[in-house]
Amino acid sequence: MVVSPINGSSPLSHSNGRTIPLSTFSRNSFVNVEKGDPVAFRSYWEKVRDECTVEIKGDEWMSYLGDTNNLCWYMVPQMRDAILRLHNVVSNAVTKDKFLVLGTCSSQLYQALLYALSPSESSHRPINVVAAAPYYSEYKDATDILQSRLFQWTGDAALYDKDEPYIEVVTSPNNPDGTLRVPVVNSRVEGKIIYDLAYYWPQYTPITDQLDHDVMVFTFSKCTGHVGSRIGWAFVKDIEVAKKMIRFTQLNSIGVSRESQIRAAKMIGVICDGYKNLKSIESDHLFFYYSKRLMKERWEKFKIAIEKSKVFTLTKYPTSYCHFNKDLSEQYPAFAWLKCVEGIKDGESYLENLKIRTRGGERFGVSSKYVRVSMIGTDDEFNELCTRLSNAKRE
Ligand code: PMP
Repeated sequence: MVVSPINGSSPLSHSNGRTIPLSTFSRNSFVNVEKGDPVAFRSYWEKVRDECTVEIKGDEWMSYLGDTNNLCWYMVPQMRDAILRLHNVVSNAVTKDKFLVLGTCSSQLYQALLYALSPSESSHRPINVVAAAPYYSEYKDATDILQSRLFQWTGDAALYDKDEPYIEVVTSPNNPDGTLRVPVVNSRVEGKIIYDLAYYWPQYTPITDQLDHDVMVFTFSKCTGHVGSRIGWAFVKDIEVAKKMIRFTQLNSIGVSRESQIRAAKMIGVICDGYKNLKSIESDHLFFYYSKRLMKERWEKFKIAIEKSKVFTLTKYPTSYCHFNKDLSEQYPAFAWLKCVEGIKDGESYLENLKIRTRGGERFGVSSKYVRVSMIGTDDEFNELCTRLSNAKRE
């Protein structure tokens, strides 16, 4: 990234073909990298904003129904086609012989899956739900909020030692630590597995395999950055599971907003069109090229700041061959997972003193020596985060 004076006075920095105004932060304001709002990709969507405009007239998309010929009756054909096309372009999942279930974001699909995968006989005890720590902080509360008689949060999958039915959530790449994961439960009972693949997209990780699991959940949120559309989808092998999920969605929200589906389909269409008549895979006009370059740049800058700080260590990631980008690449996760050096017990409080708001390890089922930092916020937040980390001195 270079800093250049414009008109000889107000300096601006340039990155990834973008011009970023210098920081608007004052010394007393907090940098909030606690949440995972993926606004980092806004600069791409600004460039293609005219291609992405969707017009919806007053009399359009009024019905509950999307496609009565589809098991997932509230999904419009444009949405189904766009999702299948996207996976066909990226080759990150096998979609053949699976049922596609649309959700109002993947958070709703998580609830739908817990319902669908729990034993239906009322005589059963609640099924145990586990994920290997550090796990995505919302699973626990999302599982227990309604104190269901069907399922209950049981914690760290690596510690699960009951010979009772269970559901294991495998998040790969993982939130918070970005690691690639496989199931870890060691039990005599066969469990059911939910693969949460929110971050299995080329800007975050090399696409090494076309995954082919019985239950795979994806979200539009972390793929393109349009979290506000609240669109997620799952590929499900078993029709009975798919039917139960659709019933859950019917009772929960009577389907998924058709306006959102139309917009999401348009955005996905713009991404895929870019890859249609491809001359070079290295073009800033291509969404995954642009977004990966942005993530790579951020990670390079962030590593330098962490090294300077001498307060934290970072997770190390392997380099693998990406079938999509056709190159050897590191991972560039959406979150950085920091561990405090000896003598610092609470990373979140340490950073709070530096006016950096983060999410501490305990929320993810591990010690407070760990802390999660978002890498996908605004340029301004990210740059200020790096400056403050570089200046962090051990007390
Ligand atoms: N799974 C994981 C691993 C996530 O990180 C998130 C978002 N932070 C979600 C699911 C939920 O995403 P959404 O509800 O926006 O689809």
